[in-house]
Amino acid sequence: MGEPTPPVPAGEERFAIESEHLAAIVRSSDDAILSKDRNAIIQSWNEAAERLYGYTAAEVVGKSVAILIPPERQGEELEIVARILAGERIEHYETERVAKDGTVLPVSLAASPIHGANGEIVGVSTQARDVSETRRALREAEQRFEGVPIGIAVISVERGSFGKLLQVNSEMTRLMGYTPEELARLAPGEITHPDDAARERVLIEELATGARGSYAIEKRNRHKDGHWMWIGVTMSLLEDEDSPRAALAHVLDITERKKAELALATARENLERSNAELDQFAYVASHDLKEPLILLSAYARMLDEKYGEGLDEEGRTFLGHVRHEAGRMKAMIDDLLDYSRVETRAEEACTVDLREMLDTALRTLAPRIEETGARVEVQGPLPTVEGSPAQFERLFRNLIANAIKFHSDNPPVVTVSTQRGDGEWTVCVRDNGIGIDPGKNERIFEVFQRLHSQDEYGGTGMGLAICKRIVERHGGRIWVEPAAGGGSTFTFALPE
Ligand code: ADP
Repeated sequence: MGEPTPPVPAGEERFAIESEHLAAIVRSSDDAILSKDRNAIIQSWNEAAERLYGYTAAEVVGKSVAILIPPERQGEELEIVARILAGERIEHYETERVAKDGTVLPVSLAASPIHGANGEIVGVSTQARDVSETRRALREAEQRFEGVPIGIAVISVERGSFGKLLQVNSEMTRLMGYTPEELARLAPGEITHPDDAARERVLIEELATGARGSYAIEKRNRHKDGHWMWIGVTMSLLEDEDSPRAALAHVLDITERKKAELALATARENLERSNAELDQFAYVASHDLKEPLILLSAYARMLDEKYGEGLDEEGRTFLGHVRHEAGRMKAMIDDLLDYSRVETRAEEACTVDLREMLDTALRTLAPRIEETGARVEVQGPLPTVEGSPAQFERLFRNLIANAIKFHSDNPPVVTVSTQRGDGEWTVCVRDNGIGIDPGKNERIFEVFQRLHSQDEYGGTGMGLAICKRIVERHGGRIWVEPAAGGGSTFTFALPE
C-alpha cells in the first residue's frame, strides 16, 4: 500500500494557494514586475523593481506609473494601457525608464493584462529588464566592427546565389565606393568579375550545403567608379541555426600586391625570354664563328708548312702567334658553346650518382694528374642527386682541373668531401694551391673573368662560369673560401 494521497483542496482554498505561489514567483523574479490599474496607478511592486528603479514599494504603490517614464515617452504608457485593454499582449521591446535618482535606464519591457474574478481586464502588469549591459556590449561589438581597417560584411548564404549583403562596416563601403544602402541593394555576384565568379560559386555552394565552413579567395570586384579591384576575401560561416545561413566576410584590398605580382611575373617572363635569346645567340654566334676560325687555323698551318722555312725568325714567331691565338680563340668559342648548352642542350633529368661522375672526371684528367704528381682524395660517400650526369661530370672536371692547375710549389693535393644538412648536400673540393684573393671571390665565376695572364696560366676564363651555371640550373649555389693551411675550397650546395 502506498502513502495516502493528501486531500485535494478545492474552491477558494485552492485559489488562495495558487495565488500565494504566484506571488512568491513574482517576489523572487529577477525581472522588475509591477501591476497597475486601468488608470495606470501602481498596485504592486516586487523586489527586483525596488532594485531597478530605487523606489521601495511603499514609496510608489498608489502613485501613477508616470513617475517612471521620461517626459518624452509619457504617451507611450497610455498607449500600452490602451492596447492591453483592447486585449493585446505586448512582447518585450526596448525603451527607457527613469530611476528614483533620475538615471535614465534602457530596459526591455513586456506587458500583459490582469483579469478580475469575472474575466474582465482590471489592470496591466509589466515586466522590465535592465538592458544597459547588453546595449554596451552591442555598442562595443559595433565599434569593433566599425573601427577595423578591414572590410567586414555579413552575407546571407543561399544555394545557387551569391547571397545578399546583410550588414557592412564603413571600411567595406570605403573599399567598394558604394554607400551602405547601395551595397544592400547590390548582389555580390553583380560586382564579381565574370572570370572569378564560377570559382566562387562552387565555394559558396559548399558553404551553403555545409560541405565546408569557410573559404578564402582572391578575386576581382568592380568598384563603384567602374574599375576592377583585386580583393582577398575570407568567408566563414556564422555558427547560427538560422536559415538561410549567413557568413562573415573579411575583405582586403590587394590590388597593389596583385599589380606587383603581375609586374614581377612579366619581368620574370621577359628575363627568361631574353636569357633564352642570349643562349640562342651565344650558341649561334659561337657555332658560326667556328667555321672561319677553323679555316684560319688551317691556312695558318698550311702557310707554316709550305712557307715557314722561307720566313725569317721574326716571321716564324708571328706565324706561331697567329696559330696560337687562333687555337685560344677556338677554345674560348668551344667553352662559350658549352656554356650556352648548359641550358639549351640540357638532357632530361635523371638520378645521378655523384661518385660515378667524379670517377669519370678523374679518368679524363688522369694524364694531367700523373704529369703533375697530384693526389686526389675522396672522403666519405658522395650523394645521389637528380640532374644531368654530363653536367655533373663537367662540374667535377672543371673544379679538379683548376685545383691541379693553380698549384703552389708543393705537389697538388685535392680533397673531395661531402656533408648533409638543412635540406641540402654540400660538396667541397679543397686544394693546397696558390689560393684566391678574397676580394675577387665573386668575379671568378663570371664569364671570361681570370685573375692571371696567359703567360702565368693558360685558360679561357669560362670554367667556373660553366660550373656556376650548372649548379644554379640544379637549384644550388657555388662559392669559394680560403682553405685552412693555404689553397682554396670550392663548395657547391644542392637541394636534397
Ligand atoms: P680559367 O681556369 O680558364 O682561367 P676559370 O673560370 O676556371 O677559368 O677560373 C677563373 C679564374 O679563377 C682563374 O683564372 C684563376 O685565376 C682563378 N681560379 C680558379 N680556380 C682556382 C683555384 N683552384 N685556385 C686558385 N685560383 C683559381
